[in-house]
Order: sequence, then structure tokens, then C-alpha cells
Amino acid sequence: MLKDAPLAPIRLLPPQLADQIAAGEVIERPASVLKELIENALDAGATRIDIDLQKGGVELIRVSDDGHGIPADEMTLAISRHATSKIAMLDDLLRLHSLGFRGEALASICSVSQWEIASRADGRDEAFRLTGQMPDRLLAANHARGTTVSIHELFGNTPARRKFLRTERTELRYCDDVIRRMALARFDVGFYARHNGRFVHRLPVVHDDIGRTRRVAKLCGEAFIHAALALDVAHKDLRLHGWISNAQYSRQQTDLQFFYINGRIIRDRVINHAIRLAYQALLPTGRHAAYVLNLELDPARVDVNVHPTKHEVRFREARYIHDFISRSLRSALQQNAATGETDGTPNWSIAETQGMYSQSGPTTYTAGQMRSDDTAPAAEVLALLWHRYLLVRTGVRLILIDAQCLHIELLCRDWQGACASESVKSQPVLIPQAINLSPQEQKQFEQNENALVQCGFELTRSGPAALLLRAVPVYLRGLDVPALFPALLDCEPATTAMIECARAQLERQSLDMQTLGIEPILRLLAREPDSFTHCRRELTEEVLRDWLNTCSHDDA
Ligand code: ADP
Ligand code: MG
Repeated sequence: MLKDAPLAPIRLLPPQLADQIAAGEVIERPASVLKELIENALDAGATRIDIDLQKGGVELIRVSDDGHGIPADEMTLAISRHATSKIAMLDDLLRLHSLGFRGEALASICSVSQWEIASRADGRDEAFRLTGQMPDRLLAANHARGTTVSIHELFGNTPARRKFLRTERTELRYCDDVIRRMALARFDVGFYARHNGRFVHRLPVVHDDIGRTRRVAKLCGEAFIHAALALDVAHKDLRLHGWISNAQYSRQQTDLQFFYINGRIIRDRVINHAIRLAYQALLPTGRHAAYVLNLELDPARVDVNVHPTKHEVRFREARYIHDFISRSLRSALQQNAATGETDGTPNWSIAETQGMYSQSGPTTYTAGQMRSDDTAPAAEVLALLWHRYLLVRTGVRLILIDAQCLHIELLCRDWQGACASESVKSQPVLIPQAINLSPQEQKQFEQNENALVQCGFELTRSGPAALLLRAVPVYLRGLDVPALFPALLDCEPATTAMIECARAQLERQSLDMQTLGIEPILRLLAREPDSFTHCRRELTEEVLRDWLNTCSHDDA
């Protein structure tokens, strides 16, 4: 107690103030609001969630879902403290299937913002809305089945809190992290997110392994998925599934570590330790593994009500779970090492690859298209091997086509054509990337700036020795562009030279043709069957014999 403070009588806090204090616990920034709103949408059984953000979420966060909605007579209750439809008894806490349960998120959020909630409940013909200005008046609204919550001017009425918010870009990054975490947990839900009116994520619902792999590639990067081992291990009532990086891939930060328990993202010491142990001795000191993993277990075996943000958990049998995770990862990593995959290339068996294409049957293109001579038999794509080579059969001949080589060929040609007609399309990067220049590179940049712009790069200076990469040519979508940059600066100041330089660099990166898609390549092969001999090799008896010989020498 302050020494000279006058003694004030004890009073109950006004409800608004109590909510604002509670908001301090869970609502730290726009991203925390976004998390709560998405969780509510998921709890309501949404299959599609639309997110609109303005100014990093500070000005507006709007989340719309197609879930079961809120009945008109429960609208006012939904925004009151300790109002939840998710638990009724203490016991329910022990078998929780929903993400929310404390019943305080909406009340807290509404106490520190201007808000509006519109909803149409399942099976009802009318929709209603409620706003912060008149929280007791239910108004008629236009809304399909589901709910839209709009939060304007977060912390507008608590300036002290607002001061703690960071720049628009930083707040957006936090929001983006939330979306990525949610989208990696729920492949059965479509996520569509816009910032200042522009789409930042378009993630349709996916149902199969290809779709899931694509979503992970979009959210975690091509490089990760290329190096990832798919994992699905079950033991008694525990199941662990997802993707983990192999021993050749590591990161400076722990930014690609997503661990879920029954679909809820968590950060937990026991689990971190189990995973670190599995990678021990495999990664250089100071480097971190990457993973997207979901542990499924009976909700009664884990307590999630440890902390208001629900990120921490308490296991009933921590040791058992720790060992299960550690053992599962270690054995996947050991198996991967044993199959001799050293350069981050293959982790797919041929059988899996075939499975992926067998959904629509093997892709067939006719002889007339693939070969100039009309009598030749149809060519059939049997498999995509090691994410890179197409195994093609024409009659009794087997041909291995380097899809990556063809992809780069196609890309460089299109890019060249677009440069010549000054119609290169650029794609903005989600978050502008900083590129630092050495004194030598600063000079090179001055010479090359025009050609870079013509090639479709959008760059602004953020200081004498630093650039911000804002957009890249669409041809380089999904590739590690900052890694290409020193070489681009080092080449002749002409678009052709830059494209050639990018080609050489791309040939050195390993691309994942499954994620990039092989359809354009199949079309190219059908159109120009006899070109690109440098990208193909017939698997004759001789080639196979040589190959088997080298394999047996390797073994010796
Ligand atoms: P909790 O999620 O912990 O129950 P909230 O304050 O987040 O608490 O939400 C209060 C209640 O409002 C929920 O229990 C639910 O019944 C209702 N609700 C909130 N958002 C939605 C939504 N998007 N769709 C349907 N009901 C919702
Ligand atoms: Mg909630």
C-alpha cells in the first residue's frame, strides 16, 4: 500500500472495468483477438473462415464463419463474462473437445474495442446483430448461417494499452503467425485472409495428402517440405502425425515449430525436450529443427486449463508421452539416414508417388504429341521420383525426364518473353524482405537497378546499405529469392544476363516438382516432344547395368 494514499472503501469493480482487467490477461495485441475469434469459429464447426484485417489488425479485425451461429436470445449472453456454451460442470474441463471454454474472450475483447457481432443460427430464417454502441438492442441483420465478429479500434478506449502496440508490419506478422498456426492444425477448414483489402492467404479445404503437403509448403516454405519426413505413428491410445525436418535441414530460429495436442497449438517444456533429444547429435549447435506435429490422445489425459492463453498444458503421464514422442522422431530420423538420403532429396517411396498420380490414373499423352513419328506407342507417366524425375514409359522403353530441368527451361523462356514485351508480372511478398548490401554490392546495385526492375523485382532503399524486396517476378514464386540476390547483382546489367544467372542459381537449388506441379511440363513435352534432349535419359539395359554396378560398389 502506498504510504500516503487515502484509505478507500472496498467496492465491487464495475463490470466494464473487471472485463478490461481480464482483457489484460488474454488480449495483448490484435493477434490475440484474432486467435480467440478463429477459435470460436472453429468451435462453431466452421468449414470456411474469412479474415479481414486493416492496419495490422489495429484498425479492424473481422472474422466471418459458416458455423452454427448464435441464437438471437443468446447474443447478449455471448458477450458477457463467464458465459460459455462449452462447459457446464467442472468435470467437462477434463474431457474438453473445444478450443475455448473460459467464456471470457468475447467479453474481454468487447470491453477494449468498438465491436459488432452479426449471426444467423442454424435452422433460423433471420439474422441479428449487436453493437457496442447499443449492447442491449438486438437489430435485424443480413447474414448467412454463421457469425461475423468485427472489432474496430482495438484499445481505442484504453490509450495506455494502445501505446504498447508495435508497427503495422509487426502486428501483421503476429496475426499472420496466428493464421498459419490455425491453418496448419485444421486442413478441413478453408482460410481466406486479407490485409488492407489484399489477399495474404487463400487456403481452400484439403482432404488428401497432396493437398495437405501443398498447404504445408505454402505456410512453411518449399525448402521445409522438401526436407520433411512425413510421420504417422500410433502406440496404444497415442497417435503422433505430421512432418519433421530431416537431419540436413535446420534453422537459426525456432520459427517453424508447430506442435498441437488434439488440434490445439501448445508450447510445452516436456515436448520441446522430447523433440530436442531426438535431434541431439544430428543438428549443429545453435540450430533448430522444424516440425508440424499433432499429438492425439484422450483429452482426459491432459489438462489445458493451466494458463489463460491455454498454450501450456499439464500431462497426467508426462514421462510416457515424452518417451513416445522422442522415440517416434528418433526412429523416423534413423530410418531416413539408413536409406542413404543425404542431400535432402528423396523421402518418398515410388509407391507413394504412384499413389499420388493414380487418383486420376497415370497421365497419358499420345504418341503423336510426344513423338513426331506417328507409329510410336503412347507415353505414360509412371511416377515422379525424388520429387524431381518423371519416369515415363513408351512401349517397352523407359525414359527418365528431369522435370526440374524442364521446369527451369520453361520458366526462363516465359520470363524472357515477358521481359521483351515489357509485361513481366510481379507478385508482392507478404512481408517485405530486407537485403543488406556490402560496399561492392551497393555499386553493383546502382548499375543493375534498371535491369532488375525490368525483370520484375520491386525494391526500395531502406538505407544506404539496405534494400527492401517488396515484389518478385511471378516466375520466381515460392523460391528463395534473397539467396539468388548476390548473384543477380554480380551479373551484367541486362535482363538476358540476369535470367541466365537466375537459371544457374535455380539449377543449384533443389525444387520440389510435386509442389510446383508437373502439368505445364507435360504440356511442354506434348507440344515439343523432340526438344530438350539434355533433360532426358533413356534407361537402357546398359544404363541400368552401370547404375546397378555403381550401387553395388557404393555398398562395398
Ligand atoms: P468461450 O469460447 O470460452 O466459450 P467466448 O467469450 O469466446 O467464450 O464466447 C462465448 C460464447 O459465445 C461461446 O461459448 C459460444 O457459445 C458463443 N460464440 C462466440 N463466437 C461464436 C461463433 N463464431 N459462432 C458461434 N458461437 C459463438
Ligand atoms: Mg472463445
